[in-house]
Amino acid sequence: MSMFGQVFVKNNQYKLKGNFHHLTPNTPIRNADDGWKLLGVTNPRDMTYMHSYGGEAIFFESLSQGKLLATRCDGQGCDSQGIIYQPFRIHCPDCLGKNTVIDMTDNAKKTAKIHTFMVCERSGAFNLLNKPIKFINIEFAGVATILMSYLSIGEPSFGMRVVPIFKTSGPTFTILDLSWVPEGTKVEQLPEGFSF
Ligand SMILES: [Zn+2]
Repeated sequence: MSMFGQVFVKNNQYKLKGNFHHLTPNTPIRNADDGWKLLGVTNPRDMTYMHSYGGEAIFFESLSQGKLLATRCDGQGCDSQGIIYQPFRIHCPDCLGKNTVIDMTDNAKKTAKIHTFMVCERSGAFNLLNKPIKFINIEFAGVATILMSYLSIGEPSFGMRVVPIFKTSGPTFTILDLSWVPEGTKVEQLPEGFSF
């Protein structure tokens, strides 16, 4: 039995495997101001949330394969026809038609630059990124939207040219599998598991 619960889908149903319940001992809560009398107990709980990616699943699968996918409205007569969305939008916000999935990896390699950025010395709970976290907003040629991501190497600046890197070794299948480095960064400098 795996220590962690695992989930797959067969016959259109979730199938659960492994251990979803971990027994963690409770501890007493005592009153330091009143002779350490008992007030209650902690009841530790953990949970495994099954997060379905729906129509965005292919975006995350592709990151693990070194590809950055976007979507484009090809709706006839839609004012947004031809507009490319990154982040990946499944449906066009104007005509509500299903967008076409496109590969924009080459565009990102050739035209991505930092629109603006924010450096965070502190993080919230469950953060997995190294601090300070260099959040960057990235613009691309011909793309209507701006992508939020993080810079793995160097210091961000306005207009800086960056290129995407992908966690193709040991991917997490989350947005953290996509990161960015300054143009000209050498492959040996990339964080562990990442490639161009
Ligand atoms: Zn449309």
